[in-house]
Amino acid sequence: MQEAVKRIRGVFMSRISLLLTIGMAIVTVGSSTIVNAQTNAEIRLVLQITVDGLRGDLLNRYQAGFGKDGFRYLLKQGTVYTNAQYQHANTETIVGHTTLATGTFPSQHGMIGNVWFDREAKELAYNIEDADAPLLPTRDEAIKGEQVDPAQKLSRTQGRSPRAILVPTLSDGLAAYYGGRSKIFGVSGKDRSAVAMAGQTGKAFWFSTDTGDFVTSSYYYDAYPEWVSDWNTQRRAEKYGGTKWELADDISTYLLGAQDDRPYEVDLKGYGRVFPHPFGEVDDKLFYTRIVVSPAGNQLLLDFSKTLVTHEQLGQDTIPDYLSISFSGVDAVNHFFGPSSLENEEVIRQLDSTLAELLKFIDKSVGLKHTLIILAADHGMADMPEYMTELGYAAGRLDPDGIAAIANKTGNSFGIDEVVRFFFRPYLYLDDEKIAAANLDRTIIEQAVAAALTDSNGIALAVASSSLSARQANPLVEQVRNNFHAARSGDIYVIQEPYWFLFDKGPIAVMHGSPWRYDTHVPIIFAGPGVDAQTVHRLVHPVDVAPTIAVFMGLTPPGAAQGSPLIEVLQ
Ligand SMILES: [Zn+2]
Repeated sequence: MQEAVKRIRGVFMSRISLLLTIGMAIVTVGSSTIVNAQTNAEIRLVLQITVDGLRGDLLNRYQAGFGKDGFRYLLKQGTVYTNAQYQHANTETIVGHTTLATGTFPSQHGMIGNVWFDREAKELAYNIEDADAPLLPTRDEAIKGEQVDPAQKLSRTQGRSPRAILVPTLSDGLAAYYGGRSKIFGVSGKDRSAVAMAGQTGKAFWFSTDTGDFVTSSYYYDAYPEWVSDWNTQRRAEKYGGTKWELADDISTYLLGAQDDRPYEVDLKGYGRVFPHPFGEVDDKLFYTRIVVSPAGNQLLLDFSKTLVTHEQLGQDTIPDYLSISFSGVDAVNHFFGPSSLENEEVIRQLDSTLAELLKFIDKSVGLKHTLIILAADHGMADMPEYMTELGYAAGRLDPDGIAAIANKTGNSFGIDEVVRFFFRPYLYLDDEKIAAANLDRTIIEQAVAAALTDSNGIALAVASSSLSARQANPLVEQVRNNFHAARSGDIYVIQEPYWFLFDKGPIAVMHGSPWRYDTHVPIIFAGPGVDAQTVHRLVHPVDVAPTIAVFMGLTPPGAAQGSPLIEVLQ
């Protein structure tokens, strides 16, 4: 009897010690328990790649033009989700990145849009702007580029930090788990994409369209690390001065070879609508912007990332490090040329080579067998209204001033002059002081304005924030609810009809940001040791990404995570 107990205890103890030794992750999903034989001990680097604006169908569309070592490697070796859909309404860059980073909705993480109106300060807020975290200068005299991003234009200072992100990220979880020994970096062509992924505990660098340098803020460093200063001193972006973005291959090899010259594409003051696109000279105010609107920005980001991995010695020991690389080029090209342009096909084809180079480098420096790779996107992209109309699907462009005018007209019927305080899509903010002075019920006005907007041409639905507390069966309303943060969201959320364009005035040809599937659909791919090669068609969500990484690595999912671990990755 005693011996039997001893034996059982012995077996039990050896199982425990086995678990402890090899660090097996046990995952409970629903009622079934999955034992993940792959241990976090094998992973030395979590490499999270985000392709800004890579709609979920584009890798499939362009597959024939890919080599074998870039996207095709991940598509063949990884677990590929073909039907991943964001569940929030405002499918913008900061919203998507923060959702990937935290595993939760904008209603929780607070990044409800690239821009919102700060009711307390009575001014606009640009998502990660922080006047207390000024940009660290890279040169004695700053060169000022021309800003074409309407959201970025609204930021008053160049200070940046993650302080406005309200919940922890996966990278914060890694920092805590490993006692601060995990090295954490986020890099991107865009400030917001680097900052969101690095979390509160990591370091972020992004490309400056003012100087062509990779920059950071005082939130992260007091002074640039030497390797960053060295990289910037080499002025690698300048080598593109006077050159052109040319097609890498013969035009006959492109699916969209006939889609180069379309009248509704935007010419960035001499960049042109057709290949080759001249970058202009280095002192041209739009030079560094054009670099971003091409494969060159992605290539510079690769170069900077390789330098980072080498100098910060990422993935060189058994404490896993985290590197987020967010490539901005596809999104930037989409905004001026559209997602069904030759430029879009070309920038993705060249990104395929960039990615192949990155994977080869990581294999050499860290080893792919020690790297968990995640590839996803922050949102998709609409096709241009004019393109859809050409094909027979009628769509148009909405005028933000026209939308404010409809709302003000409704306000007039209640005796209020200019009831609109502020409109930056998707949120319309009402003037509380005027409503209070007129002694009116703001809920009634909100709903009247929403009803008037819903009735107007090109608008599918306008949702009053006061109506979100009531349960509604409309799935669009659910997406608006997921986007609602009481302190930041406006009073009315305006949703355009499919393919209708709604954005602030600026030289932008097309925009994402709607709750429609072309904006919510993104790829999700996991690849690494123990991850099966398979294609999964079930509906999944980007909030699942951070919990999946966490469970794979044996960590608790980020504090506010709402998604579920993707079981196919863990089995
Ligand atoms: Zn984006």
